[in-house]
Amino acid sequence: MQSFKDLIANYEWQAIQDDIYRKSAADVVRALAKPGRLDLEDFKALVSPAAAAYLEPMAQRSHQQTQQRFGKTIQMYIPLYLSNECQNICTYCGFSLDVPIARKTLSEEEILAEMSVIKQMGYEHVLLVTGEANKTVGVEYLQCAIRLLRPHFAHIAMEVQPLEQAEYALLRREGLHTVLVYQETYHREEYKTHHPKGKKSNFDYRLDTHDRLGRAGIQKMGLGVLLGLEDWRTDSFFCAAHLQYLEKTYWQSKYSISFPRLRPCAGGLNPKVQLSDRELVQLICAYRLLSDTVELSLSTRESPHFRDHVLKLGITSMSADSKTDPGGYANPNMALEQFEIDDKRPTTEVVASIRRQGYEPVFKNAVGIGDF
Ligand code: SF4
Repeated sequence: MQSFKDLIANYEWQAIQDDIYRKSAADVVRALAKPGRLDLEDFKALVSPAAAAYLEPMAQRSHQQTQQRFGKTIQMYIPLYLSNECQNICTYCGFSLDVPIARKTLSEEEILAEMSVIKQMGYEHVLLVTGEANKTVGVEYLQCAIRLLRPHFAHIAMEVQPLEQAEYALLRREGLHTVLVYQETYHREEYKTHHPKGKKSNFDYRLDTHDRLGRAGIQKMGLGVLLGLEDWRTDSFFCAAHLQYLEKTYWQSKYSISFPRLRPCAGGLNPKVQLSDRELVQLICAYRLLSDTVELSLSTRESPHFRDHVLKLGITSMSADSKTDPGGYANPNMALEQFEIDDKRPTTEVVASIRRQGYEPVFKNAVGIGDF
C-alpha cells in the first residue's frame, strides 16, 4: 500500500529550497489572486522571502477564509502530561534520556487529581502527553488513562510515541479522538543529528505514522515541524505536501497544524534557524490559504503579545494555563518541565483577551468545528 513515505522520495530537499528562494513578487501576486484552492506551488510562493512584502493582503485573506469556515470562535484545550519518562535522545527536549531530571509517571489516582483541577478550570478538551517510553507508558497505560478520563472529557487527544495501526484502532475504540505526531524535521540527515538514539531515530517509521492513523480511522490528526531545526520554509513545504496527501487519501479525517518554535529547556539547544514573529504570521497565513479546513493551533510556547495579535489571522485553537510537568496542575512546584512556557496567563485572562477581540472561546464542541 502506498504511503507518504513513498511520495516523499519524489521531492529533493535542495531543489525545493532553491525553488522557494527563487519565487518572485509576481508569483506571490498570482497566488493571492487565484480564486479557490491553492496548490503547493502557490504555497512555495507564500512562504518565500518574496512574500514578506505581501503580509497584509495574506493576513486579510487568511482572516476572511478562517472566519467563513470557523466563525469567530477559538477552541480551547489543555495538555495533561502523564509522564516525562523517555527512552529517546532528542537534542532539543527537556525529557531527553540524557537529561538528568527526576522522572515521573502518574498513577491512576494522580491522573484523576489532575483531571479534577483541569475540570475546575472549565476544560472539556484534553491533550494527553507522554515521553516515549514503551515499557512505562505503552499502549496498556494509555488505554487505562483514556478509560479513566473518557467519562470526564468531551474530547481526548494524545501526543505520545508513534504506535502501530492496530494499537491506534484499539485506543480509538476506547474513546480517543485525535492524535498529534510531529515529524520535527522532514530533512532526513538533520533528523538523524537530532535523534541519535531510541526508536524515534527511525525517520521512516515516524513518517509513516499518519498513514497508520488514517487506516485506523482516527478522527483527527495533527502535523507539524519543530520550527528552528532546519530552514522553516522548506520544512513547512514538506509538511504542507504531507497535509495535502493526507487530506486526499484519508478524506474522512480532519487535520490540524501546530507551530512549535524551539524554546529553552533543560537540554538546551539553540535554534539553527530563527523564525521571526512576522515570518511565523506569514507561515500561519500560508497554511490557511492552502487549506480552508485545516485547524491551526497555537500553544503557550508563544508570548501573550504574539498570541493576542495573531488570534484573528487564521488560528482556530489555543491552549492556556498549561503545565508541561507530570502532576503540575495538582502539585505546581515539581520542576519537571519539558520546556518553559511563555504565555503564563491564567485561563480567565486568556478568555477575557479572546472576548475583547470579539471572538468566543469554546470549551465544548463548537458548531462547525466539531473538535479542536
Ligand atoms: S521530544 Fe519526545 S521523544 Fe524526544 S526526548 Fe522529548 S519526550 Fe522524548
